[in-house]
Amino acid sequence: MTKKRLAIIGNGMAAGRLLDELLRRGGSSAFEIAVFGEEARGGYNRILLGRVLSGGEPDQITLKSESWYAESGIAFHSGVRVTKVDPVARRLATSDGEAHPYEVCVFATGSSPLIPPIRGLKSADGSPREGVHAFRTIDDCIAIREHARPGSSAVVVGGGLLGLEAAKALCDLGLHVTVLHLEPVLMNTQLDGSGGELLRRAIEKMGIFVRTGTSADEVIGNGHVEAVKLRSGDVVPADLVVLACGIVPRVEVAKASGIPVNRAILVNDLLATQVPGVYAVGECAEHEGKVYGLVQPIWDQCAVLADLLTGANPRARYRGSKVYARLKVAGVEVASFGVPNAEFPTDEVVQVFEDRRGVYRKLIIRDGKLAGAMLVGCAAAAPVLVQMFDRDEPLPPNRLDVLATGLSLSTAGEREICNCNHVTESAVLDAIRDGYDTLPALCEATRAGTGCGSCRGQLAGMLANQTSEKSFDRITG
Ligand SMILES: Cc1cc2nc3c(=O)[nH]c(=O)nc-3n(C[C@H](O)[C@H](O)[C@H](O)COP(=O)(O)OP(=O)(O)OC[C@H]3O[C@@H](n4cnc5c(N)ncnc54)[C@H](O)[C@@H]3O)c2cc1C
Repeated sequence: MTKKRLAIIGNGMAAGRLLDELLRRGGSSAFEIAVFGEEARGGYNRILLGRVLSGGEPDQITLKSESWYAESGIAFHSGVRVTKVDPVARRLATSDGEAHPYEVCVFATGSSPLIPPIRGLKSADGSPREGVHAFRTIDDCIAIREHARPGSSAVVVGGGLLGLEAAKALCDLGLHVTVLHLEPVLMNTQLDGSGGELLRRAIEKMGIFVRTGTSADEVIGNGHVEAVKLRSGDVVPADLVVLACGIVPRVEVAKASGIPVNRAILVNDLLATQVPGVYAVGECAEHEGKVYGLVQPIWDQCAVLADLLTGANPRARYRGSKVYARLKVAGVEVASFGVPNAEFPTDEVVQVFEDRRGVYRKLIIRDGKLAGAMLVGCAAAAPVLVQMFDRDEPLPPNRLDVLATGLSLSTAGEREICNCNHVTESAVLDAIRDGYDTLPALCEATRAGTGCGSCRGQLAGMLANQTSEKSFDRITG
């Protein structure tokens, strides 16, 4: 059977996951796969960029080394940007002047950082001002690090997940850091006023200055950055400005190629665009009016597309994802999903605020089931809550029972440890019993911990428990 040519545009987290899903289903016998990646490196875990920013080697977050592609029979065009797709001739044009025929083409072009309208971001000649950086890629992290001198000062524009991650990393490098956030509440997409306030206190305790309800009006400096003028008129001295103000789906190539786009590339339940042979997954795809900015929905999309392309399940359909964010924000555990506040008079709200411990937990309950939850400072209950939310399970009459850490009301063993990849406790324990007794081996075997990574501590704990039980068994015979 002649193989079809499958071209994947982009080599980010969606592309990496799609490759894994295709290979798992024997996709390499049906397709000659080519990946075009503008970033000149193998795939990496973008979620862990904070590690590189705070001084770690890029290799620490690599998911696929450059040699992996060749070993897996995939043609990897590293550092090559696709400039246009000709859907009639089924051919891609690339930045190195080449043309590549395809039968199936998948857009996985992700997003670019949103650049806010702040005066002075560029120098007089139109080039980016020295000392102003976005926070999206390994190259961004390396460039920021080159500017980040201990004792110098940085202003981070944006108090969402990315901004706080960047602020923590810069503070760890010994910089004087100020975070500016336009809204009164930090991480206002995920948190309410109480949650945001607690997070702010935790961030300030680390030595980071937080200014909410204001933003940058102008970057001041003669050539390089010297200060940031706020909307309030205050001036904050700064040697470095990091922009973390949100993301914009990368649709420029799709647009130029006549592929219908709204906020992102429009796809249906088959992840197909309106143009035959062209699909899209990840942050560049818009399904039913939604564009997702977290990995778990992207994993769902990649599994469906791989099922369809390989014929493993021609009836697979993507129906949208319930979104839950379980994150470690600058070292503080945060989980948030569903609605952030009561919406109907019949909605029930349970809030536990532990001022001294710095822990806030909130449940919004509708018809006896979870409509939303928010955890700040301790997210141990998150896996159980996410699972109940996902499966629409009823809550126990004593609502506080579900907040008791580690307590699962779900069937024993069916408790999810990794919500990103839906890996249950029993699957993890089975793998440990099968001899996967190091964290990397366990993660690779089960996929647990390979998404946002927030369950890796729990996995390490399970490994330690099981291996110490094994040694105890050996000692006691
Ligand atoms: C610092 C940080 C922390 C995060 N933390 C979390 C978290 O805790 N939990 C979570 O779920 N999500 C988190 N995210 C979001 C998550 O990383 C993204 O949702 C995910 O990376 C999106 O994957 P993607 O493949 O769609 O896009 P990307 O990973 O951005 O990959 C797209 C790739 O396509 C390339 N590309 C674009 N256009 C072209 C072209 N024309 N030709 C060739 N290549 C092209 C780009 O250069 C890029 O490498 C975080 C993101 C960042 C930046």
